[in-house]
Amino acid sequence: MEGFDATHAHTRTAFITGITGQDGSYLAELLLEKGYNIHGLARRDASQEGVNAGNIRNVGDQITVHKGDITDPHGLAKTLADISPDEIYHLAAQSHVSQSFATPSYTMQVNALGTLNLLQAIVSCGLQAKVRLYNASTSELFGGSDDPSILLNEQSPFAPRSPYAISKQAAHWLVRNYRESQGLWAVNGILFNHESARRGSGFVTMRIARGVAARVLSRTDMPLTLAGVDMARDWGHSRDYVRGIWMMLQQNQPRDMVLATGKLRTVHEFAEAAFAHVGIQLRWHYNGDGTVTSASEEGTGSIVIQIDRSLERPREVRYLVGDSSLAKEQMGWESTIPFETLVAEMVDAEIRRLKDH
Ligand code: NDP
Repeated sequence: MEGFDATHAHTRTAFITGITGQDGSYLAELLLEKGYNIHGLARRDASQEGVNAGNIRNVGDQITVHKGDITDPHGLAKTLADISPDEIYHLAAQSHVSQSFATPSYTMQVNALGTLNLLQAIVSCGLQAKVRLYNASTSELFGGSDDPSILLNEQSPFAPRSPYAISKQAAHWLVRNYRESQGLWAVNGILFNHESARRGSGFVTMRIARGVAARVLSRTDMPLTLAGVDMARDWGHSRDYVRGIWMMLQQNQPRDMVLATGKLRTVHEFAEAAFAHVGIQLRWHYNGDGTVTSASEEGTGSIVIQIDRSLERPREVRYLVGDSSLAKEQMGWESTIPFETLVAEMVDAEIRRLKDH
């Protein structure tokens, strides 16, 4: 394992783009514990209570939020010149894969050009010799596989299957290019899916957690509509992953790395675990061709999940599972929070949230 260069971590200044997001908010909490001086880029003033502003409420008075947008190069350069960070964590993105099919050019603008804007701002402020950059790359670059036994790692070829993945691949290569051509200390973290109680509401895991909470509190008797229940993903917890993100920037040499749990679970296993957590056992119903049509509650027969295949992505990724041996060998990083704990935490948080409304 390489040694960490963390002796002066308590005096460091970090700049986090996407600080109001799932990972940005957990990362801010982690860096505060480590004594960092934290600045974040957010699209709205924290006081204006945007959709995700709640994520940083706990740390609001300990961080400096800069209002801005990753698509605005001048604003970025000004912010970087003002704060002169030691570490930049670039997490801002249009992060929703399905949404990227509806808004491909916006997705490219935010994810690909936004990353270029940040790289250019670093260079134009003369920070490339000082700063370390983490870029949020993604397992979606691999495009998945049709074989669940194939674990993807840093050597696996990229075959992106969505505008999101293509925009992130451009960002990934831009970061490598600035590392190679400008001598910038920069890494791409190739992260597999990770969730938490702060996951965005459009993601399937959060839709399931929300659906379970609504049912258990009798806020609805409508079935939860899902698509792509046979798709399988490698789901970890965001808190584990932001620890890996920080570790990547403390290495002696910049190196792109995969973070994953190595375990594959289908969307319907996620749903099963979420309903089981509140004592509802599911019975799945199938078409003649073996595809799932719905799920009912064991005992009552009431339909709790309805499958709508029209909602599937135009180009689905079937299996996506990673091998993070390099991260373990180089940094001692491993995913520690079990799948069942993650699911229970999401469902419990949604139950609490709904009770408060
Ligand atoms: P979220 O969607 O929760 O957070 C995205 C953040 O980006 C939010 O703070 C959002 O701000 C901000 N943002 C969006 N557009 C802009 C913009 N134009 N200018 C400035 N900020 C913007 O994502 P996660 O925290 O889950 O993910 C963090 C990063 O990691 C993303 O880049 C994502 O693509 C990537 N990733 C995530 C994985 C996962 O499973 N979670 C897996 C692999 C990669 P606002 O609050 O205003 O919306």
